[in-house]
Amino acid sequence: MRAAVFPVPEECEIAQREAPAPAEHEALVRVHACGVCGTDAHIYRGRFPARFPLIAGHEFAGVVEEVGSNVSVLQPGDRVAVDPNIYCGSCRPCRRGLTHLCRNLSAVGVTRDGGFATHCVVPARQCHTVTSEMPFEVAALAEPVACCVHGIDRAGIVSGDVVLLLGAGTIGLVLLQLARLQGAALTVVSELDPGKRELAKGLGATRVVDPAAEDLEQAVEDMSDGSGPDVVIECVGAGATAQQACDLAGEGGRVLLFGVAPEEAEITISPYRVYRNEIAITGSFTNPFTQSRALALLASGRLQIEGLISHRLPLDEVPRGIGLLESGEATKVVIETQECG
Ligand SMILES: [Zn+2]
Ligand SMILES: [Zn+2]
Repeated sequence: MRAAVFPVPEECEIAQREAPAPAEHEALVRVHACGVCGTDAHIYRGRFPARFPLIAGHEFAGVVEEVGSNVSVLQPGDRVAVDPNIYCGSCRPCRRGLTHLCRNLSAVGVTRDGGFATHCVVPARQCHTVTSEMPFEVAALAEPVACCVHGIDRAGIVSGDVVLLLGAGTIGLVLLQLARLQGAALTVVSELDPGKRELAKGLGATRVVDPAAEDLEQAVEDMSDGSGPDVVIECVGAGATAQQACDLAGEGGRVLLFGVAPEEAEITISPYRVYRNEIAITGSFTNPFTQSRALALLASGRLQIEGLISHRLPLDEVPRGIGLLESGEATKVVIETQECG
């Protein structure tokens, strides 16, 4: 197999090695497409607790090539999308049904080798079979979509809500579509990049705002009879936008902090305002039991993801893909793992 290996942070080399044999409960997947995520960028820069040397990449799909002796749910030839997050099943959060908050969480592409390779071994139960009609790059992106589905569950949008989204990267654009499917009456998207504002408009945003040139608060008030939004979703992952999200929520407002802010970021909240306006602030972590729901949505055609892929790159251009993501030039980068430039 061929793999993009990070021996240490900030370094990537293409290695040729023997494909690992699957253990009794595992499957060997021939990877066809693997999305590049903000987490991969954090790992590459050494800002995320990962195991080095590492083959990163946790958003991928491919074809099962071989299964371990104890695997009955999969067979060679099955097309699969992989859920990378593996829980232990026996810690306190797991025992209480919060498996995604597992204290011993491991993840394909973070704590064990992932999908920036032609092949990857994963526990068989992490594989979701998909039909041959679904392109590999769409199946690969079921993982980030599944994280967004969990986020929308947490945001508690009800029919008729005014929803404000801060940031229109891939995640913001998926959450926008999910908010509309959930029955949001009006959606406002705040985004600095004109190309991404255009994409948001194309996906049905009621109004897009350039926060550098327009008064966002005013724009939202105009649309909600001066009340502010019912739901605000932060999709940037920065302290400043998290602060803005909490400040802009209207009466009875729910705030979802979805973006991954730096660990040291802090915001200021008025407890009185939270009390008086019954503001609810919540987070959303990974994809608990939402991978199959994400795949169902993608198969139905009610959620658009292909149009958000701005770059398709070969395996040896993983660092370039990360750079394109960091600069904001790319919306979504997908590595076509069987290709090498
Ligand atoms: Zn990801
Ligand atoms: Zn656990």
